[in-house]
Amino acid sequence: MYRKVDEQAIEFLKEVFAADDVLLDPEMMEKYSHDEVPGLRAEPEAVVRATNAEQVSKLMEFANEQMIPVTPRGAGYGLSGGAVPAHGGIVLSLERMNRILEIDKKNLMVTVEPGVITEKIHQAVEAEGLFYPPDPASLDSCTIGGNVAECAGGPRAVKYGVTKDYVCGLEVVLPSGEIVHTGGKLVKDVTGYDLRGLMVGSEGTLGIVTKIILRLIPLPKVTIDLLVAFNEFQSAADTVSAIIERQILPTALEFMGQDCLRACEAYLKKELPFREAEALLLIKLDGNRKEDVEAMAEVIGEVCLEHEAIDVLMADNRPDQDRLWEARRAIIDALKMRSPVNHMEDVVVPRGRIGEFLAEMKKLEEEYQYPIVCFGHSGDGNVHVNVLKEDRPEDVWLKTVPQISGRIFDIALSLGGQITGEHGVGLTRKNSLEKAVGPVALRLIRDIKHVFDPNNILNPGKILP
Ligand SMILES: Cc1cc2nc3c(=O)[nH]c(=O)nc-3n(C[C@H](O)[C@H](O)[C@H](O)COP(=O)(O)OP(=O)(O)OC[C@H]3O[C@@H](n4cnc5c(N)ncnc54)[C@H](O)[C@@H]3O)c2cc1C
Repeated sequence: MYRKVDEQAIEFLKEVFAADDVLLDPEMMEKYSHDEVPGLRAEPEAVVRATNAEQVSKLMEFANEQMIPVTPRGAGYGLSGGAVPAHGGIVLSLERMNRILEIDKKNLMVTVEPGVITEKIHQAVEAEGLFYPPDPASLDSCTIGGNVAECAGGPRAVKYGVTKDYVCGLEVVLPSGEIVHTGGKLVKDVTGYDLRGLMVGSEGTLGIVTKIILRLIPLPKVTIDLLVAFNEFQSAADTVSAIIERQILPTALEFMGQDCLRACEAYLKKELPFREAEALLLIKLDGNRKEDVEAMAEVIGEVCLEHEAIDVLMADNRPDQDRLWEARRAIIDALKMRSPVNHMEDVVVPRGRIGEFLAEMKKLEEEYQYPIVCFGHSGDGNVHVNVLKEDRPEDVWLKTVPQISGRIFDIALSLGGQITGEHGVGLTRKNSLEKAVGPVALRLIRDIKHVFDPNNILNPGKILP
């Protein structure tokens, strides 16, 4: 069905893109053949690195006519195989469109190109006393374009929401090559269907984002972080629901078990606080007045002690706070070091049911006799569930993992949850989409894809089963 990238296509690519932005060397393809999902790979036939929207537009017009698949790519830090060129063809890298175009203090907006590393946006706006809250744990590596495509979340989602809550305007190149602008520096805008909203989280299957306008808010003046240790895994899990029930909204409320802690110690090669604890909660609070934030910290401390916390460590300065968060940010890499082959799910449940969900994961671990390590953004109900292969035989692993995955999804769905909170459907979860959303919603999703991309040339093989 798809055409190969032949001599004529290569000639076209060399006309549109700078010579060093057309990569054809088979050795260069490896970097663009995978994201961060272990073991998932497909080689592209060519890679191009765009520097402006016009190039992207010309590429899409050509690819659409020639029936060559195109897979957009930010930094390749995704966790659902979204940037993997499942059907070969061309990988379109946005890594060189990496300028922060404007910080508009009058409108509290920042305009950026898609290849900017998310952390660079944080640093640039914070230097102006402004705040862009979404903070995926991969923020020092992933791009804002990838964040928009995945509607990335992060620990601060509990209080501040996720990427979609900040995207006000987009420039998008459609699979036809047409360029569309949707939204703008507008706080309100209900003109027609919400195309901007549709683009956010569309995983590079409806259009290529080439410019982004993000809403900013004032930077909170005071932050306090708490690290709380528990002897009982379930007490920590129940504390999460109890904090929410007391109507306190922390900035972040993260959960990790002892298995995560041990893996991080081995990875970071240092001892971490509360190394004997069975589970830890990492809580961030912020506000503008020190006494208000301290009062919140006090109430949370009380709730934790009511739920048999054994100790609470407080950090109110940047170096100590960074120390507390270092382990949390390292968990994914640390688990990879413990078991290079592992399988991560990203389910989300109503936050009041997080304790029940984690208890079910313990039962699943017993039943299958595989380490099932849970951590994540428990304050918003989003749990990363990791099944570790370690030294189990490959054939048994390949047979068992889909079963465990299916059970994890069933448990999340039965609690009123969903199969992915922030990592997306991509390649890895597409076969469970119908179970997750039902046949009617699936039909609508299929129809929407067809309207945008009737030839199915933009990131084919993703989301839809
Ligand atoms: C250690 C680690 C921690 C992580 N923590 C978090 C977390 O806390 N929260 C979270 O949400 N995610 C997290 N992730 C997942 C990942 O970082 C995010 O999904 C991120 O948004 C991916 O950005 P990227 O630039 O790497 O995108 P890529 O992996 O390159 O691409 C992701 C998807 O976006 C599409 N895409 C990329 N750029 C564009 C564009 N300009 N236009 C259209 N489509 C595009 C691609 O086709 C693909 O489908 C983590 C990943 C790792 C490895």
